[in-house]
Amino acid sequence: MERIQRPRGTYDVTPQEAPRWQALEARIRDVAARFGFGELRTPVIEARELFQRTVGETTDIVQKEMYVLTPPGSDRQLVLRPEGTAAAVRAYLENGLHNGPQPVKLFYIQPMFRHERPQAGRYRQHVQFGVEIFGAGEATADAEIIALAVTLFAELGLEGLEVHLNSIGCPVCRPRYRQALLEYYRPRAAELCSDCRARLETNPLRLLDCKVPADQPHKAGAPRTVDYLCDACRDHFDQLQAALAALGIAYRLDSGLVRGLDYYTRTVFEIKYGGLGAQDTVCGGGRYDGLIELLGGPPTPGVGFGMGLERLLLTLEALGRVPGAARPLHAFVAVTGQVPRARVLALVQDLRRAGLAVDMDHVGRSLKAQLRAAARLPVRYAVILGDEEWAAGQATVRHLESGAQRRVALAELAAALREEAGSPAGEGGADGDGHGSGHGKGHGQGRAEVEAE
Ligand code: ATP
Ligand code: MG
Repeated sequence: MERIQRPRGTYDVTPQEAPRWQALEARIRDVAARFGFGELRTPVIEARELFQRTVGETTDIVQKEMYVLTPPGSDRQLVLRPEGTAAAVRAYLENGLHNGPQPVKLFYIQPMFRHERPQAGRYRQHVQFGVEIFGAGEATADAEIIALAVTLFAELGLEGLEVHLNSIGCPVCRPRYRQALLEYYRPRAAELCSDCRARLETNPLRLLDCKVPADQPHKAGAPRTVDYLCDACRDHFDQLQAALAALGIAYRLDSGLVRGLDYYTRTVFEIKYGGLGAQDTVCGGGRYDGLIELLGGPPTPGVGFGMGLERLLLTLEALGRVPGAARPLHAFVAVTGQVPRARVLALVQDLRRAGLAVDMDHVGRSLKAQLRAAARLPVRYAVILGDEEWAAGQATVRHLESGAQRRVALAELAAALREEAGSPAGEGGADGDGHGSGHGKGHGQGRAEVEAE
């Protein structure tokens, strides 16, 4: 039978790879909590208009990257969420968070979907860690989220990431800049790529976002947003830089940085790692002071970023900093002879209730094969149960690395494994036993019940 494959541009996370995701997500949750952000979870599907209205009709995401769904019997189109900010604003308004204390600080770790050409660091489903602060227009809020990202990178052991920073102004100063940009680019239109010729008419700011090599020389001489900022935007940008200096965060002013989405105002930033090739932007964000109003809310400033976790993991790998290891088992139970397997499973279950991580053989392999299988697992002890041990109410506990082994009464097994492992899992186990054994006699006797008779 022909095998069916996963869609192009997607990937599976196998149990071998899952620990690095778990470790990364745990680190993110920890940092986010320390910065005072609460988690937001939103649906994978959203109304199409949510992104048309916010991200912008002329952006790549809306023009060519969204997965559009037409539910049976409905004429209301849905899309697979392509980015997190618009969805977060929708949820902020829909759940009345704008009526509570402000600012509201949210984070999410969620998949995004974009129909792009798959390549290294670019997928059709990717996961973003995003943060948003709604209701704080001050530059210290911008600095705080940049500090959050930088703190996360530092705690992951990442070095060599660069913060690129720019201000693209606001509805007061942008029109004047736009005009200057048009005057600069119009005479050069014939030399531009076809996308850029279209941008000239629809979204001139995006001219600076062009990645076509032939268009790069034009960018160098283009007018810079920072030279056209109104006083309020200038002031905000100065304050942001002062805050970053106070935090000791190095950054590079990058006048060519504009970012792909329409809703940005004032601050835009990207954090890049040079070793990733073309897909070198790990984190991108900025301020969007008009967005909440655009979605029907009260005038409310906002600032946030999205961080691509695949690119972050690639960076960690490139630097030899892969986080997380599989959680080891305390023991693998190997069974041989006539020992009743269901009773062994009950014994294993008791150990698990006692808070220990334990696995056993199901498929009737030879003892040798079972021990070989155990040796390939992250596990410290093999618990061997043969006819003789079973009859004596005991087990052979073998330290797999050294081969040292000893007999332990089944009633003492949990305590022995916990003692020998000497790990925090053992402490957790004491708790688990209290809640889980249900035998009401302390864990030693609980185990004895399983093996008695
Ligand atoms: P790019 O310029 O690389 O296409 P973008 O401007 O479209 O990025 P954002 O919309 O700002 O990216 O998303 C925030 C972050 O999410 C990016 O900086 C990147 O790390 C990650 N990201 C975006 N698109 C993808 C993708 N297709 N695959 C993997 N990660 C992605
Ligand atoms: Mg993109």
